[in-house]
Amino acid sequence: MPLQTEKEFTGDMGLLIVGILFCLPYAIYYYVSNKETMVICPQCQESVNKQASICRYCDEDLDQHRPSGDRDEVIN
Ligand SMILES: [Zn+2]
Repeated sequence: MPLQTEKEFTGDMGLLIVGILFCLPYAIYYYVSNKETMVICPQCQESVNKQASICRYCDEDLDQHRPSGDRDEVIN
């Protein structure tokens, strides 16, 4: 089963608030440019970095859930 993904803001929330107060267009740009695609861990339902191979919350091996074309195939 493929991993679910979601978009999540991963930038600095303090900077974002300062941006909203002083320069809204910049804040919007900052917010959008810091959105990253995250994967939802099937084990604990937390969102983790798309590039991560292991869930940082529960150590679930995320690579095993990816489509095989997504990474180099390892042949033993
Ligand atoms: Zn997890």
